[in-house]
Amino acid sequence: MSIRILPSDIVHRIAAGEVIDRPYSVVKELMENSIDAHATYIQVAVRNGGKTYISVKDNGWGIKKDELELAIQRHTTSKLPKDDLFDVRTLGFRGEGLPSIAAGSRLYISSRTSDEENGWSLFAEGGKVHPLKPVPQDMGTHVEVKDLFYALPSRLRFLKTDAWEGEFILMTFKKLALAYPSIRFTLKVDKHEVFDLPCSADRKRLIHILGKDFAKNHIPINGGQGALKLKGAISLPTFHKSTPNYQYFFVNGRPVKDKLLSSTVRNVYQDLIFRKRYPVLALFIEVPPDEIDINIHPQKHEIRFKQPEMIRRFIKGALSHALHENAHQVSTTLSREMLDMLFTDESSSPHSYTTLKEEFSPYTSPKEQKKSQHEQSFRSYPLGHAQGQLYETYIFSEGEDQVFIIDQHAMHERCGL
Ligand code: ADP
Ligand code: MG
Repeated sequence: MSIRILPSDIVHRIAAGEVIDRPYSVVKELMENSIDAHATYIQVAVRNGGKTYISVKDNGWGIKKDELELAIQRHTTSKLPKDDLFDVRTLGFRGEGLPSIAAGSRLYISSRTSDEENGWSLFAEGGKVHPLKPVPQDMGTHVEVKDLFYALPSRLRFLKTDAWEGEFILMTFKKLALAYPSIRFTLKVDKHEVFDLPCSADRKRLIHILGKDFAKNHIPINGGQGALKLKGAISLPTFHKSTPNYQYFFVNGRPVKDKLLSSTVRNVYQDLIFRKRYPVLALFIEVPPDEIDINIHPQKHEIRFKQPEMIRRFIKGALSHALHENAHQVSTTLSREMLDMLFTDESSSPHSYTTLKEEFSPYTSPKEQKKSQHEQSFRSYPLGHAQGQLYETYIFSEGEDQVFIIDQHAMHERCGL
């Protein structure tokens, strides 16, 4: 067969498919555009896992009327001012987000800059652009995407359930919200407001996203070496999950998936954590822009470090040091499975060491009140009744005719919890 040049619309569809493969990638491109436009308030709303409706509204600097049509054309960008792919300071730079979305959906953009009296709105459908219309609009941009992939039935077939697609949207939202705590973000899923994250300090945003248990079980990280900086928080080795999905990495404000970073974390925790368990963490790494290549993936979530060994040593050193400094601490959270082996009374939930400590303090004598309960429960709780705790590490427990002293850390490992 002879070689031919592909028609440009096929080339465009191939490229668009690499950028926008599922609803979450639309959410990502639009949120990134709002962040690049220096918005301080970004409202995201989705319906049906983003399949029928995605809306991202911001109060950023807006798009001028005469640039609206340009914005949805391929490879048009206001970013990358020096045409230097090794000096990227924005989340976008390839000029592919909006045209890729427009290629297979109904796209509405309304926007107003500070110089304009009213806003202008653009409607594009399956690649066809309708004439601009004036609209009342606050300064900023509102992008709505309806019926994603309606013009690309082959893509539509690959979409999964609303819940599945919604889960990816949630993950995308959380990553960007973690990276930009000074921006207020809201997320509405169908009719429910899932998040309203006020502009806050880094640590507060971390806790909002990673949860209260993480708040009690983390070590803050704050380090630097020359031009390299590392911030964030990592969980104590006794606080872990069954998946690595709770590990967030950011390089120069960009959420990334990176094997070097995840393997470095694995390496640091390997002797401290049971196999197939993963610490929870959010690490923010700052490197000079010319130390990384971010143009290796159409969705820009993979990067390449120019000096990977240097980065690995830096991260490993900082995390090992932090863990060593905090070696005396253990998780305050008992896993449910572990508690199931111990008898505690109903009121001891939520399951935390702190609660256990209060419940079974030596000053209260729960023995009498609970005698009959205890008798029937020895059989079902092989480690007896939790009675007290020492050094936030050892639990004293009373069996039928014996006493147990349980080292929480060792038990976590033995039980594979
Ligand atoms: P890129 O982000 O790579 O530049 P896009 O196709 O996503 O490419 O956007 C094209 C251009 O449209 C951007 O460079 C920017 O100038 C403008 N733009 C898009 N979204 C917004 C927004 N929310 N606020 C202001 N300008 C925007
Ligand atoms: Mg963009």
